[in-house]
Amino acid sequence: MRSRPKNIADPELRSLGRRLVALQRRAEALGIFTDDRELLECSDCGLKEDVDATGRLFTYRGRPGSRDTGLRFAEQAGGRFRCPGCGATICEAELARLTAPEAPAKRRKK
Ligand SMILES: [Zn+2]
Repeated sequence: MRSRPKNIADPELRSLGRRLVALQRRAEALGIFTDDRELLECSDCGLKEDVDATGRLFTYRGRPGSRDTGLRFAEQAGGRFRCPGCGATICEAELARLTAPEAPAKRRKK
């Protein structure tokens, strides 16, 4: 869980923040990618996430534009995700670092 700032005095700002969080949760419940993390990719089995034209998150294998597998990475504690295809654990922070330009590919597996 994220820590909150302690002194947000403006009630209007607090209200706006609550509405924004609620809106983000609704979007996530609808399967819409809210861009609050990197798109995931499993180097073990090749399952990758992408976002379609409507903003919905999906997974595919092979070339971009392939059909949705219907599988979804499962979020775990500590910014980790479990691949639904092979069970590998992917660390989002490592993925973000590794997908930065000129970074070598590396992942952990449990
Ligand atoms: Zn996998």
